[in-house]
Amino acid sequence: MSSENDATGAAAADELDDSSVWDVVVVGAGPAGASAAYAAAVAGRRVLLLEKAELPRYKTCGGGIIGPSRDSLPPGFELPLQDRVHAVTFSLGGRMARTRRSRRMLFGLINRPEFDAQLVQHAEKAGAVVRTGVAVSRVEQHGPGVPDRRTVAVVLAPAGEGKESEERVLARAVVGADGSASRIGAHVGVKLDQVDLGLEWEIPVPETVAEDWAGRVLIDWGPLPGSYGWVFPKGRTLTVGVISARGEGAATKRYLEDFVARLGLAGFEPSVSSGHLTRCRSDDSPLSRGRVLVCGDAAGLLEPWTREGISFALRSGRLAGEWAVRIAEAHDAVDARRQALNYAFAIKAGLGVEMAVGRRMLALFERRPGLLHAVLTGFRPAWTAFADITRGTTTLAGLVRTRPLARRALDLLEGRRG
Ligand SMILES: Cc1cc2nc3c(=O)[nH]c(=O)nc-3n(C[C@H](O)[C@H](O)[C@H](O)COP(=O)(O)OP(=O)(O)OC[C@H]3O[C@@H](n4cnc5c(N)ncnc54)[C@H](O)[C@@H]3O)c2cc1C
Repeated sequence: MSSENDATGAAAADELDDSSVWDVVVVGAGPAGASAAYAAAVAGRRVLLLEKAELPRYKTCGGGIIGPSRDSLPPGFELPLQDRVHAVTFSLGGRMARTRRSRRMLFGLINRPEFDAQLVQHAEKAGAVVRTGVAVSRVEQHGPGVPDRRTVAVVLAPAGEGKESEERVLARAVVGADGSASRIGAHVGVKLDQVDLGLEWEIPVPETVAEDWAGRVLIDWGPLPGSYGWVFPKGRTLTVGVISARGEGAATKRYLEDFVARLGLAGFEPSVSSGHLTRCRSDDSPLSRGRVLVCGDAAGLLEPWTREGISFALRSGRLAGEWAVRIAEAHDAVDARRQALNYAFAIKAGLGVEMAVGRRMLALFERRPGLLHAVLTGFRPAWTAFADITRGTTTLAGLVRTRPLARRALDLLEGRRG
């Protein structure tokens, strides 16, 4: 199906037939959107994936791929790994550095432009149609531009000279995967209880410096409450970044500059310097409105402590794609609502539980970073748990649920009575 087939608003309503309406339109081609498009396309539906950038596009991100991310990739997907992590150096404000090693790989490191582009190719191979360089300005579920109650109009921003009129594409279901400044999230009414600012430099380094970092990452617990910094090596480039609560922009920038200087990397010119917000949904935030679902950063689905979001994007994207297929088939609003509630239930039962434990960890870390550093570097079971979580043999929530010792330890560290 090409754009010529796209209906153009109310005028087309009379002659609307099923071939002019996509089953599922996905907005945003990051990991969440590519996964949603893939899931809906392998189910045999007509899927359109819309992306405002041209691919491959840069995304501010450490590119850390933990076990749950690896396990959520489409079949046959080959991770474009830049490095395999076998050691972690932890430091506390640049001091008390201690390195822990593992014979087995802990997690992998990728560059987002190629990783994301590869995910989109898999969605395309599964049958999704991809349009890049098109920004969605809004979705409409009622009004003159929407032909009937089973249809959503996705309105594209006018692009290019002389193109002043808006183009519309029609869908039975829409998945919003348009990242942390999500327009679709605003339509759904996503509510947030945490917004952080991540700053990152891509620093090309000489071979001798790169060799020193190969296979090892550094995690530094930072000076601002809940902040931390990282060095992720990717061959001849180091991705160095920090993250902290939004609203402390100048202090966050200073933390990054001090961090880089302390590591002896200040003499190397970054090839990229960028920033991006991360957002965590509040517990009662909606995940859908009518025939529109949200996933990934657009839904505020992110691990609150580490701000790990790729696995959340891949997992929620796949679920959104699967449930969007059911919404597309729904013949009335009641059925569509039922399917949307099922999507919300699936998210809350999985990622929601992980986020709840992540919030507890963040609160603890904000209050007592030194204690967390001491436990991780000095108490072997804590390091083993960290390694298991990054490898994906368990999750933080799984540990707390299944191991009474882990539950009691978290209670004690939080100052609750065991
Ligand atoms: C500094 C930093 C470091 C991080 N490091 C890690 C890490 O190491 N590991 C990890 O797991 N997570 C990390 N994260 C989190 C991770 O980057 C995100 O959670 C993840 O990218 C979310 O994927 P997504 O598909 O939901 O959104 P995105 O990757 O942001 O993709 C959204 C897409 O939608 C497109 N788009 C936006 N608006 C529109 C529109 N109106 N119309 C059409 N398209 C649109 C965008 O161009 C983009 O391609 C990090 C985040 C930050 C800020």
